[in-house]
Amino acid sequence: MKKSLYPMFLLSAALSFQAAAQDGAIFPTGEKSPNVHHVGDVWLSHVSNADSTFQYNIAEATFAPGARLDWHVHPGGQQLLITDGICYYQERNKPLQTLHKGEVVKCQPGVEHWHGATPDDAMTYLAVTEPQPTKWLERVSDEAYFGKEKTGKPSMTAEQEVINLSKQKWQWMADKNVDSLAVLFDKKAKFVHMGGSWGTEQELNIIKSGGIHYKKADIHETSVEIIDNTAILLNRITLLAVVGGNEVTNPFQVTEVYLKEGGNWKLGSLSFTKLLTP
Ligand code: MN
Repeated sequence: MKKSLYPMFLLSAALSFQAAAQDGAIFPTGEKSPNVHHVGDVWLSHVSNADSTFQYNIAEATFAPGARLDWHVHPGGQQLLITDGICYYQERNKPLQTLHKGEVVKCQPGVEHWHGATPDDAMTYLAVTEPQPTKWLERVSDEAYFGKEKTGKPSMTAEQEVINLSKQKWQWMADKNVDSLAVLFDKKAKFVHMGGSWGTEQELNIIKSGGIHYKKADIHETSVEIIDNTAILLNRITLLAVVGGNEVTNPFQVTEVYLKEGGNWKLGSLSFTKLLTP
């Protein structure tokens, strides 16, 4: 049942979207591109072409929900400036990335990758590309796009995904790996500590500077509840931390709230409640 309805949904989404896109776009939406190197509906507009002074092309591409380019390589690299919607971007043998309006991705020269819309939302970007011809590779299959590469492993339950992510997060905190944490933490996330509460930027700064070093979290018990696109994870831990140069060990109940955004879990809140007994 689901299989037969899905293409109809995509078609109607694409049609209603096409009408909307032509109203609010900054640059003209451009010509619908023939399906040679992509799946689904893509509109392409050559905003500004390279010349003897400016050595790169700027094009605007608009993708209907479900549309994506084939795997490809830019010999001279490419930058994508996401101007609307949510962009899927994946490099060979790496996890799928989800980029939002206002974000930029740099495709390095010679790196095999693909990009496109998510299954549910349209997407527009400006592509700044060095004008050597793109080398096109194989199609991104429906199975890869809708299935296993999105979540890592198809057999893993959402609960297990969140538990693994939470464990991974303690390791990143111990390693002061703020680059990975910056991807995991929603920009508007809230962190509640014994000494106060603050946002993502401050939390990352504290981890980076060693203001609080979450040296080791011994996890005694984990439970997770999924409500729609929100996961609430409870961790009972003993935390060895270094705060202002002093090692302290405390038993905590930690509440973690994760939100599914464009196929990825993001941390929306991390909150420590001190327990009387470990
Ligand atoms: Mn590209």
